[in-house]
Amino acid sequence: MSNQTIKHVLGISGGKDSAALAIYMSRLYPELDMEYYTCDTGHELKETYELVDKLELHLGKSIKKLVAADNTPEDSPFNHFLGVYGGYLPSSTARWCTKKLKLDPFEKYMASDTPVISYVGIRGDEDREGYISKKSNIQSIFPFRKNIWSEDVIRKAFANPQIDFIVRLYQEYGKSKSLDRILEIVRQPLSPQFGLAQKVDTLLELGIKEFNRVVFAFLKTTDYPLSKVDFFPLVENEDILKREDIFQILRETVGVPAYYEMKEYQVEIDGEIKTGYYSRSRSGCFFCFFQQKIEWVWLYENHPDLYTKAAAYEKDGYAWMEKETLADLAQPDRIKSIKREHYLRMQRNKNKTKSEFLTDILNDAEGEGCAACFI
Ligand code: SF4
Repeated sequence: MSNQTIKHVLGISGGKDSAALAIYMSRLYPELDMEYYTCDTGHELKETYELVDKLELHLGKSIKKLVAADNTPEDSPFNHFLGVYGGYLPSSTARWCTKKLKLDPFEKYMASDTPVISYVGIRGDEDREGYISKKSNIQSIFPFRKNIWSEDVIRKAFANPQIDFIVRLYQEYGKSKSLDRILEIVRQPLSPQFGLAQKVDTLLELGIKEFNRVVFAFLKTTDYPLSKVDFFPLVENEDILKREDIFQILRETVGVPAYYEMKEYQVEIDGEIKTGYYSRSRSGCFFCFFQQKIEWVWLYENHPDLYTKAAAYEKDGYAWMEKETLADLAQPDRIKSIKREHYLRMQRNKNKTKSEFLTDILNDAEGEGCAACFI
């Protein structure tokens, strides 16, 4: 089967990482006929919609808009499902929104049995796994990470019963000057003292291309989509992209979405007026419950209309946060105290973090939340 028989798809969440991945893939691998899609909840920030428009122009391709429910002009997919759930607002423990508004439409879009490679923009400096589809015809690849393979593939390839087979694959496809050391690591069984992450990290340290060639050869013995092709260019790619690389790609092309721009705020600390900085750390719905308190303050002060709309959802005992309503959070004394806490935390981070970049210091909770919405 040739490379043409599998589908390559890339989801644009509206966040910086998926946007940068689309640009990166189109620059490096124009031969892959990538399909782009985005899932619109109907409540994204306007900067997200602008980013999607700019990307379409830059990529020279349209980005398919997947919508979870047939909506009318008065309604939105989110409001439709909120009605279905009886006004029960989603939360980090009851995240029906991600499933209904992002994952289900994606799986519906991929309904046929065509093998699909889904490219996901989790960065090399992040410690999280992306969403892995339960459908066997969809395989996720993470081009920005040192380990481009999904956890399920790695678990299968490096399970103890596969040791002899992986040794043979390294002898055939992963020859390098470190081969003896690599084989020593491969032969060491997984145990409580030697976990999968440690084994994989060590093997990757000893040779990324060799590791990729071996995993690709292993996939030939499975039903994964990549078993259907003879060649996959990312096998030979050793790039690892971190946060600053992402900003660099965006600055050179479509620009960084405006909500990441740092804005100043003033706050009184021990009788002195200090200047702090805040921004939104992620894309997604303007009312997303994953926001930090300071991001709610940012929304209140920079998009008061959206804050009012978010607050209007809080009724019948439902609220976006566990212990505080948006009406309470908007009280002047509460805003001052959130800014004070944020300012002091950022000062502590500044002393701890080695990075010189303000975004690294400020967006310390970026990793939390939902890969489908914020990548
Ligand atoms: S951005 Fe937040 S509220 Fe919107 S769908 Fe994702 S998790 Fe839910």
